Amino acid sequence: MPIYEYRCEKCKAEFEKIVFSSGKDEPVICPRCKSKKTRKLMSAFAGGKSGCSTCAATTCSST
Ligand SMILES: [Zn+2]
Repeated sequence: MPIYEYRCEKCKAEFEKIVFSSGKDEPVICPRCKSKKTRKLMSAFAGGKSGCSTCAATTCSST
């Protein structure tokens, strides 16, 4: 099951949440301040990065 990272926009807390059903887009409540203003972060293990890992270019021939 996927674990997503979230950051609270209100208190800047970062937390992880296991999402059982990715179909529904339920609001994630911050465990610290109970705010619903949370944003999903890109999980580090998802391999979301594209392009070169040493420079910001998406097309890099240095590798
Ligand atoms: Zn919060």
